[in-house]
Amino acid sequence: MFHRSRRKLNKKWREFWRAPDALLADQGGAGELAVARIRFLVIGTLFLFGFYELGDKLGSSGREMALTAGVAALIFAVTIYVVSRRGSYRSWLGFVSSIMDVTFVSIVLVVFLLIDQPHVAVNNRVMFAVYLVAIAATSLRYDPRICVLVGLVSIGQYAGIVAYADTHWALNSDQFAPFTDGTFAISVHYERLVLMGCATAISTMAVTRAQGLRWASARDPLTGLLSRGFFDELAAAEVARTKRYDRVLSVAMIDVDDFKGFNDQFGHAVGDEVLTLIAKMLQSTRKSDLVARYGGEEFIIVFPETPVEAAVHKAEQIRKVIEPSSVTVSIGVAALPVDGSDLRTVIDRADQRLYEAKRGGRNRVVGPPTVEGAASPESEEPSISASERVS
Ligand code: GH3
Ligand code: MG
Ligand code: MG
Repeated sequence: MFHRSRRKLNKKWREFWRAPDALLADQGGAGELAVARIRFLVIGTLFLFGFYELGDKLGSSGREMALTAGVAALIFAVTIYVVSRRGSYRSWLGFVSSIMDVTFVSIVLVVFLLIDQPHVAVNNRVMFAVYLVAIAATSLRYDPRICVLVGLVSIGQYAGIVAYADTHWALNSDQFAPFTDGTFAISVHYERLVLMGCATAISTMAVTRAQGLRWASARDPLTGLLSRGFFDELAAAEVARTKRYDRVLSVAMIDVDDFKGFNDQFGHAVGDEVLTLIAKMLQSTRKSDLVARYGGEEFIIVFPETPVEAAVHKAEQIRKVIEPSSVTVSIGVAALPVDGSDLRTVIDRADQRLYEAKRGGRNRVVGPPTVEGAASPESEEPSISASERVS
């Protein structure tokens, strides 16, 4: 009992800690760009009002340090903006940029410690609130790992700064009392840490919920494979990438043999179970491959960066893995650019080859005529129908 719940927890944790799938990564890229724009606003506001308001607090050496930090922040902001705009977002960039955001707030606070103004570092309400903004912004990256990590880093850095200030200065001495930020109460800082924890939990939950919704809307409920609509969207993006970089991409169309007969004999419920099993076997391909349920008992796989020979080889492996089960599949393989210059044409060609495979006796893979072994099944006897195989 205990072991079961532990295993369940382990599984949940592994799922949580996995990189978001391509769909969410795309959203994360768009989110990073949005954050980059917000960052300009925040830095701009700091430059406009921060220096003006903090003028008397900073003194000349402080102003120099703050200016250096400000320019560094600006360079960082421009870099992230340019990289996000070019669409080359990767999740590590989200990790780096969001952790930099909170670290930047901490650096500003440390500047105040360095210029002997600890009361500003720990008591100023506006600067503390920037942590909360940075934590909230992590939800736009659509990666729960980033939310949790950034929350923990914020809490750690802020707690460290307050603890350091509290042990190195008499924060309630007359020296600081006259200033707006002059009253120190440790309980306020505990409350702030709790608030940061709440903000972290909220942004994490928002992202995991969005992930759940996205997952559900992108998948076929029976098999858990990509649904047709999302497949079309992702495949179009993959094809665009393939063409832009002059690469190759292969497509395999898979159809279960004599499935109508199987259903008639064993019922639709058993048929559904078989489809789920086949889906599992199809997912044993590479993580970057797009595996979708294309129709009732038809599946499609896009193999990015894969020449047609390799795709035929993989299709053959898939066919062999499924063969010992109660049904067999026929597969047609085609590739870009050899079989066509757009996805529609390549899919149509794969579909034609699938029907060649059916005509040839089923339970076989058909690729381009140039690919050796593709259209040659091991035996020429007519394939045994699904119902016969099971009985
Ligand atoms: P073949 O492909 O070998 O030519 O013969 P087939 O009998 O499989 O023909 P076709 O591909 O046209 O079969 C479609 C059948 O698949 C119709 C239906 O009984 C079955 N099917 C389609 N969708 C589902 C589904 O979601 N669940 C179940 N159980 N069966 C389905
Ligand atoms: Mg069929
Ligand atoms: Mg069919």
